Amino acid sequence: MKATNDKNKTDPSAAQKINWGDFRDHLSTADQQGNRMWLYPKKPKGRFYLARLYFSFVLIVVMFAGPFVKIQGNPLLMINIVERKFSVLGVIFWPQDNLIFAFGFLLFLTGIAVFTAAFGRLWCGWTCPQTVMMEMVFRRLEYFIEGDAYAQRALDKAPWSAKKLFKKLAKHTVFLGLSFVIGNTLLAYIIGIDALKLIITDPPDSHLAGLGAMCVFTLIFYGIFARFREQACTFICPYGRLQSTLLDENTIVVAYDYKRGERRGPLRRTQTPEQRQTGGAGDCVDCNQCVAVCPTGIDIRNGTQMECVNCTACIDACDNVMTKIGKPRGLIRFASLNGIERGELLRVTPRIIGYCVVLALLGLGLVTLLVTRKDLDTTLLRAPGGMFQTTPEGKINNLYLLKLTNKTHHDLPVELKLENLPGTLSVLGGGSLVPAEKQVESSVLVQLDPTLLPTANTPLVVGVYSNGRKIETLKTMFLGPRK
Ligand code: SF4
Ligand code: SF4
Repeated sequence: MKATNDKNKTDPSAAQKINWGDFRDHLSTADQQGNRMWLYPKKPKGRFYLARLYFSFVLIVVMFAGPFVKIQGNPLLMINIVERKFSVLGVIFWPQDNLIFAFGFLLFLTGIAVFTAAFGRLWCGWTCPQTVMMEMVFRRLEYFIEGDAYAQRALDKAPWSAKKLFKKLAKHTVFLGLSFVIGNTLLAYIIGIDALKLIITDPPDSHLAGLGAMCVFTLIFYGIFARFREQACTFICPYGRLQSTLLDENTIVVAYDYKRGERRGPLRRTQTPEQRQTGGAGDCVDCNQCVAVCPTGIDIRNGTQMECVNCTACIDACDNVMTKIGKPRGLIRFASLNGIERGELLRVTPRIIGYCVVLALLGLGLVTLLVTRKDLDTTLLRAPGGMFQTTPEGKINNLYLLKLTNKTHHDLPVELKLENLPGTLSVLGGGSLVPAEKQVESSVLVQLDPTLLPTANTPLVVGVYSNGRKIETLKTMFLGPRK
């Protein structure tokens, strides 16, 4: 069935009715000219929707409480890019922990690959913050203010009146307010709740950048949830694009059992189920309910599609229809292509085993790095452009830059000692006590007798001690006069 562009413009629900034969060449929410068609998904009802609602409630509580929860004085999660300071479960990580970040990131990517290869885009429909906030908060508020799909469509078609103006104003005010809360929560994850409190309580001109970020985040979230909506999943999200390379015929996805459902056709009142079956009809009564509830506007009966976020709304819609017509539930269900064709349950393929092995190795590597992570990170570098100096007493001086990062929750006393040569080492401008979770930079002056220097470039070994315990050995070069 082809729909004309004119029809799409006058009937915004057309996206949910169109079933172009070449559906894989078109976005379900765009007409043939590429214009967007607004979706009015029906409110889903059913066991999966209820489960998602409860699960989303827990996720939303965790998401908003996150910045307020502190472990040993540090945020549960903080990604402070500005100060290059990151907190995960209350443990502070620094840019020096780059290997841990690399392993963590690879582990995350491999975990996604394994999970997606086995269970499809379950993450998208059930845990992705975009879907959770869109479907369980913004969409529900829209249903509350404007009514279900039919009422929303009617309201949009209706001429402007006091009632329409009130509903639209109410909806967008609530959306903007919520976007402000979400934007501030994101900012709290980036800079920490204490810094956010200062932005809110201090005079505005002392935090112009922070206030700017607040406004930008609020407008971005408002734009996404009020207008952009499902397009974030179909156009923007890289994970959605990745799925075509990760899914195969053994992946469990939301799928239509075409063997049971076809040949689809409407249920006639005069027809008994036996007559219907004898006539070669399948269980699908072509009621379009699965399409009407889909938040991305697709028809799952066409097979797995890029737009499907595995939200399970179509499962609920179809289960309700099956219950009404006295057929078993599950015409649309979680299943793999092989599951539908051959009745196989989840099959562990060599590809999944391979992913799991990589995942286990990366996990082992990450655990090793975390366990062996040093309390104190030290770097000792020659002062840039610095040569040696000769003192009036004939001694040779070299200047170094020392950077100390205390990764623990308590202050650490630090002492540096020359290990391979007799001489003096002085830390200038502090550095003997490094405060908890802080970085300290100081200069180090090393003075040696020239008779100890066999060449112009002599290796120097410096021991780093804390509370009498050696925690690191640093190696550098000491410059002296040519021999
Ligand atoms: S096809 Fe079904 S599971 Fe996929 S997005 Fe649409 S309603 Fe959700
Ligand atoms: S809801 Fe079920 S019966 Fe109705 S069209 Fe979809 S698959 Fe067919």
